[in-house]
Amino acid sequence: MKILVLNCGSSSIKFQMFDMTDQTVLSKGVVEKIGLNGSFLKLVKQNGDEVIFEGEILDHKIGIEYVLGVLSSKKHGCVANLNEISAVGHRVVHGGEKFNSSVLITDEVVAKMEECIDLAPLHNPPNLKGIEAIKEILPNMIQVGVFDTAFHQTMPKYAYMYGIPYSLYQKYGIRRYGFHGTSHRYVSRKACSLLGIDYNSSKIITCHLGNGASIAAIKNGVSVDTSMGFTPVEGLLMGTRAGDLDIGVVTYLMEKEKLGVETASTLFNKHSGMLGLTGISSDFRDLRKSVAEDNNELSKMAFEMYFYRVKKYIGAYTAAMNGCDVLVFTGGIGENDVMCRQGICSEMEWLGFDLDNELNSTIRAEEALLSKPTSKVKIMVIPTNEELMIAEDTLSFLQ
Ligand code: ADP
Repeated sequence: MKILVLNCGSSSIKFQMFDMTDQTVLSKGVVEKIGLNGSFLKLVKQNGDEVIFEGEILDHKIGIEYVLGVLSSKKHGCVANLNEISAVGHRVVHGGEKFNSSVLITDEVVAKMEECIDLAPLHNPPNLKGIEAIKEILPNMIQVGVFDTAFHQTMPKYAYMYGIPYSLYQKYGIRRYGFHGTSHRYVSRKACSLLGIDYNSSKIITCHLGNGASIAAIKNGVSVDTSMGFTPVEGLLMGTRAGDLDIGVVTYLMEKEKLGVETASTLFNKHSGMLGLTGISSDFRDLRKSVAEDNNELSKMAFEMYFYRVKKYIGAYTAAMNGCDVLVFTGGIGENDVMCRQGICSEMEWLGFDLDNELNSTIRAEEALLSKPTSKVKIMVIPTNEELMIAEDTLSFLQ
């Protein structure tokens, strides 16, 4: 059974075709620069060969037509014809309070998704364009929406409310939603299945550390807290986002620097975090180099801040769940950056987190247990696979 997974961004479409009989990726790729000069489609075949197709890709519908054409082409395709595709799963960023799990897409569901646009004005519209395009091109195709926010809809009210007038929650839905839900769900489940423990009676902390970063507390199979909030800017220090910040700083800077709403948003989302602190890069590899080659003081400071912030959240979530059985690292940084995992887990033995530093230093981007046998908490690396999770959810509607 073949399932196509689509992740439509404002100017890009990422795609992966799965054969769900054995969960293999038959083909994957990305359409970039939609509506801009120089748009192209990059295809990565199952054997690893890459092919680039240049063309004028004016909108998402043309982009998806292009993807479907390539996937079913004689020369580069992985299906003989489009009827072989059983369903399409879409990543959708924001489901607000309307969606607490993945859904089969109907006209009614699309209308509800449109009501969530206000909460994610940059992300939800391209997600919807992808759904609309498939409906136009393949009207009978089964489509499923998988939301970044849905997994965190189980947070208790005391965890998701902000201390602002309740009327603003009622009027605008201002509350904490959390993101990266598909990733937190995938790695937490995978960790339990690898450890052979029951997901529904475990306490798990998952650290998704990529360009964007968030941490989640998952108790008895449901998310009970997460660090991103109304928007993805809250919580951990990130590549370019500030994370937790005294809102007094926002109003102070808006006044002092005469910042408008958009400029302020850009400052805290795109020019802050590791990039803003160091002035060098948001990429951990560049920052590591700046320490190794130049002993850069600002990079050293930024790393310490990064570790400290994650450590504080781990402590908080251990308290929130009255314990922790498993700590999972994932995302580009969590999977690859050995020193980051070591920095976060150092001096956490009292709390039960005892990392095997030697073992840790050998693990990159593979499923592995990193804690000492005596560690109360199992510490793991699990490479995330949001696309597979979307394909699995989509498959569940076919069964
Ligand atoms: P996104 O949030 O865009 O999906 P990723 O999860 O791919 O991001 O993570 C990207 C980040 O992972 C990069 O910015 C980089 O800092 C980090 N990263 C990737 N590979 C390595 C590596 N080998 N060592 C250290 N950091 C890495």
